[in-house]
Amino acid sequence: MNTHAPEQFLDEDKSLACIHCGLCLSSCPTYLETGNENNSPRGRIYLMRALQQGRQPLGDATVHHIDLCLGCRACEVACPSGVQYGHLLEHTRDHIEKHHSRSTFQTFLRRVAIEKVFPFPTRMKLALLPARAVKLLHAENFLPKFAREALSLIPDNPSAGKLPEISPAFGEKRGTVGFISGCVMSVMFGDTNRASVKLLNRAGYDVVTPPAQGCCGALHAHSGRLELARDAARVNIAVFEQHNVDAIIINAAGCGSTLKEYENLLHHDPQWLDRAQKFSGKVKDLTEWLAKDLDANKPATPFKTKVTYHDACHLAHAQRITKQPRDLVKAIAGENFVELTESDVCCGSAGTYNLTEPEMAERLGNRKTENILKTGAQIVVTSNPGCLLQIQAGLRKAGASNVKAMHIADFLEEFSQHP
Ligand code: SF4
Ligand code: SF4
Repeated sequence: MNTHAPEQFLDEDKSLACIHCGLCLSSCPTYLETGNENNSPRGRIYLMRALQQGRQPLGDATVHHIDLCLGCRACEVACPSGVQYGHLLEHTRDHIEKHHSRSTFQTFLRRVAIEKVFPFPTRMKLALLPARAVKLLHAENFLPKFAREALSLIPDNPSAGKLPEISPAFGEKRGTVGFISGCVMSVMFGDTNRASVKLLNRAGYDVVTPPAQGCCGALHAHSGRLELARDAARVNIAVFEQHNVDAIIINAAGCGSTLKEYENLLHHDPQWLDRAQKFSGKVKDLTEWLAKDLDANKPATPFKTKVTYHDACHLAHAQRITKQPRDLVKAIAGENFVELTESDVCCGSAGTYNLTEPEMAERLGNRKTENILKTGAQIVVTSNPGCLLQIQAGLRKAGASNVKAMHIADFLEEFSQHP
């Protein structure tokens, strides 16, 4: 247990913005599940300040309350005082990872799986091979519970595949956009990436997918490894500076919020700040870009299926994008669109949270599945790979084979009219 007074890791002004009103509590998934103030935004900000001031030791109990935070940022939307909770959390996690000793298992998960495997598509593909073999042989029951839970997240038929560097617009060209193919997206959702590029081509854009792009850094930033996240940001900024694009499109909400925050990440680096601002200014979620032309998204045939929509936290809370994806889904589903109760309560995926905090992830996953089933929808649409994996696993576990979870790009590509 570390009890010495720590170096300054928390932005004091940002932490003092919290006026302890408690209006964020009812939006916090971990507070909803536990009723424990220490698992609420207000309680966690109090703990962060106590850590900073040396009033609280950096022990397992305190770290657990911070670890249990999903980083979903629902509290930011609810906060009348404009508290930048995500910023406070990332810097507190950075401090924890530098000064707190974790168990061997947690250290392996964080330093090896999350840092050295997931951000590298080739390594992730290799790591998936034994997992897929276990699934094919139906040998899951020989594994411990945490491994079974992790395995249940892997789709039966992941689709990988690289995108061409240039994918030309279909018909009349309206512009050129860059595309971020993502780590998890390019290994498990290659078909979704191809659908995303086709939607952009059909909307009149040449799509440039630079092969030299790397991980966006979200996994590092969210797990308290800010220097690694900054390195990832510098790589992507330099890569996209070589291309003259109108926008940089991303179809994974978790990556999108980090890409839009490169300027915050590189705030203290004068050599990169201006370049980071230019890069982040161009980043658009796929739905933000496509919703500019709703007329292009009409159903190919009369659409009779009931559809609902789950808000990915990093789209709804971090980027405040809730209307555009709904508009796109409704353009196809019309009156068959039905709202999902607690649509913006985290599904428990939260990046790699379902690996590091499987128990809470399972509770939130069950809560999400129950709400989806109550809608009576046969399709649930979302816009982030983590949510998709978590929701698909929850539906499989509930035996709800009649309900399909789809990424919004796949939904639009499958059901919209193609000229
Ligand atoms: S980020 Fe999400 S889980 Fe964490 S305190 Fe805020 S609302 Fe709660
Ligand atoms: S709503 Fe904002 S100001 Fe109020 S307790 Fe929560 S974080 Fe603090």
